[in-house]
Amino acid sequence: MDASLPASFGSDQSAGDTGSDFDESRNRAREGRGELMQRVSEFVLKHDVALTGSNLSTVVAALSGSDSGLARTFAAREIAQEPFSQGWLDEMARSRSREDERKGSVEELIDRVESSLNKFAETAQTAEVETSEHRGAIDAQITQLAENAVAAGPQSGLDRLVDLSRVMLERIVQIEEAMKKSQAETATLKENLAEARAEANVDHLTRLPNRRSFETELKRAAELADAKGEPLSIGFCDVDHFKKINDTHGHDAGDRVLVAIARTLQSYAGKHCFAARHGGEEFALLFPNAGLDKAKARLDKIRIDLGKRQMINRDTGQSFGKITFSGGVSEVANPDDARHALARADAALYKAKEGGRDQVIAE
Ligand code: GH3
Ligand code: MG
Ligand code: MG
Repeated sequence: MDASLPASFGSDQSAGDTGSDFDESRNRAREGRGELMQRVSEFVLKHDVALTGSNLSTVVAALSGSDSGLARTFAAREIAQEPFSQGWLDEMARSRSREDERKGSVEELIDRVESSLNKFAETAQTAEVETSEHRGAIDAQITQLAENAVAAGPQSGLDRLVDLSRVMLERIVQIEEAMKKSQAETATLKENLAEARAEANVDHLTRLPNRRSFETELKRAAELADAKGEPLSIGFCDVDHFKKINDTHGHDAGDRVLVAIARTLQSYAGKHCFAARHGGEEFALLFPNAGLDKAKARLDKIRIDLGKRQMINRDTGQSFGKITFSGGVSEVANPDDARHALARADAALYKAKEGGRDQVIAE
């Protein structure tokens, strides 16, 4: 998150308290919606935004923080005092729908290829079984025909029929082999496809699950927590002054630091929580069966331990110095609250940055 993000963007502080009581959390979610509507109307009036579906959807996504990238873009524009013109809002709406399309299209493409492959594998299998069944019968017929051709003599023309049949049989054998090969190739393609599906959810640099995967997991975890009646918390962390690491040691060394941080998060996450690279030098965690305090304590432990690690730039032997992050923690009240909880964690992270960094704030 950007430390210059005004609190009105991507934060939903009204729904920030915790509590295990279901009704109470529903009430808070409702209050949160009221608060959001209030901010949306203030924004619409202040910037004279036309009340169209597209504009409202863009403004809600930015103000609720459900699209953190958009929240930042809005915040930057507000700070720069540039107008929220209709042309600009349209461009934001277009780029959001392009992003949605891109996200959807990868899944759809993989699904379509998988379905075609399955159909092809079925056809190839049936064809192979049928050709091999017929091959046996034709082979027997040709043997019989050859005996009849000898008995009937060359003038009968049966020997030419036998030759022709043998050529056809040979072709059937070739087709059968080609079908077997196709089946083997289909199996390899299916494996490649499964790899592509897995790859679409992994961050290339750190090999942690990526943001897309985090969002899927958040939904799943929120539903599971709801069904089990267990708490679920979200942790967001952003490496402090990471730009300085890049500036001092170079981008490649910065990459290695990100990989090392990712490994640390992964090892702490273990079986009990889910860690993902949310983008850039930001990481997101899910703490199943952990309320706000427990999740905060866990994230604080990771932060303190990471700060104690001595990381050395292997190219220069120079120390990277103390590496810290700021963190925000929130609790997911119910599955409908997942997106708001993300925004609350982001807002808490912003407060941790504002408060001097190297700390975790829960709200
Ligand atoms: P703050 O404490 O406010 O978070 O300061 P910061 O410097 O960490 O934050 P800022 O947002 O100013 O800079 C983030 C930097 O992270 C800038 C960007 O180049 C760098 N970064 C993002 N992704 C990568 C990456 O994959 N590799 C490397 N080496 N750097 C990255
Ligand atoms: Mg950042
Ligand atoms: Mg940072």
